[in-house]
Amino acid sequence: MPREARGTRDSLCGSRLPRVLCEWFPLRALLPPRPVTIEDVQKLAITWFGHSTFLLRTPGGKRLLFDPWLRENPSCPESMKKPPKADVILVSHGHGDHMDDLVLCARDSGAVVVAMYELCEWLARKGIQNVAPMNRGGSQQVAGLTITMTDARHSSGYIEGGQTVYMGEAAGFVIRLEDQRTIYFAGDTALFGDMQLIGERYKPEIALLPIGDRFTMDPIDAARACAMLGVRQVVPMHWGTFPVLTGKPDELKRLVEPKGIQVLELKPGETAE
Ligand SMILES: [Zn+2]
Repeated sequence: MPREARGTRDSLCGSRLPRVLCEWFPLRALLPPRPVTIEDVQKLAITWFGHSTFLLRTPGGKRLLFDPWLRENPSCPESMKKPPKADVILVSHGHGDHMDDLVLCARDSGAVVVAMYELCEWLARKGIQNVAPMNRGGSQQVAGLTITMTDARHSSGYIEGGQTVYMGEAAGFVIRLEDQRTIYFAGDTALFGDMQLIGERYKPEIALLPIGDRFTMDPIDAARACAMLGVRQVVPMHWGTFPVLTGKPDELKRLVEPKGIQVLELKPGETAE
C-alpha cells in the first residue's frame, strides 16, 4: 500500500473519529489505490430524516436530498422539518411520503430536481423549472456527480385534489461520487433479480434499502438484495414510520452481519460520517 494511503487510513481510524467512519474506510483496502485526503472524508455524511428522506453530503461538499417528506413525516424530528440546504434533490417516485415537501424544498433551496420525466413535467406545472428529467437506464452529470436512474418495482401515482396523477414509474438511483465510489438508493421497491446487474455494473459500496414490508421489501428480501448488490454496508429505510411497517433493522443485522455486511442503523436525525 502506498505510504500516503496508509497514513490516511491510519489517521481516519484515530479515536477522535466516529466508529461508522472507520468501518467505512477500511473498504478502501479492497480497491485500487487513489489519492484521498482527510478533507474528503470529513465532508462525507448521511443524515436520516426518518422514513426515506436523507441528506447526503458528498466528499466534494455537494448536498443531495432524497425523497423529501418533512412536515407530516411522523419520524422527522421537529427541528428538521424545515427544508434543508440542498444542491440536488432526487425523487424516486410520486407517492406523498416521498415528495409531499418536494415543491417546498425545491423552491426554498433552488436545487436541481432529478426525477422521472413525468414527475418533472408535473413540477414544471407547479413553477419549478430547475429540473433534470431522466428515465430508467440513463445517466446524467449533475453537480459534478454521475446519477444513474435504475429500475424499481413499485407504483408511482400522486394523489392531488382527490385524483391520482400519473408520475411515470418508480425508480432508484446510483450516484457516483467525486472519488468514484458509488451509492445505491433503492427508493421503494420489491426485491428484483436485476439488483444483481446493478451490483455488477455499478459496484455500489453502500445501499440504502427499504425494509418495512407491506409496501416494499422486508428484511429477508433486503438481505438477498445486499448479496446481489455486493455491498459491504447497508442503511435501512422505510421502516418504523407507521405500525404497518413491521420490518426491523435487527432482523436485517441477524441475516447480513454473519456475511460481513455492516448495517448502519440510524435514528431519525442522526448522521453517519
Ligand atoms: Zn411508495
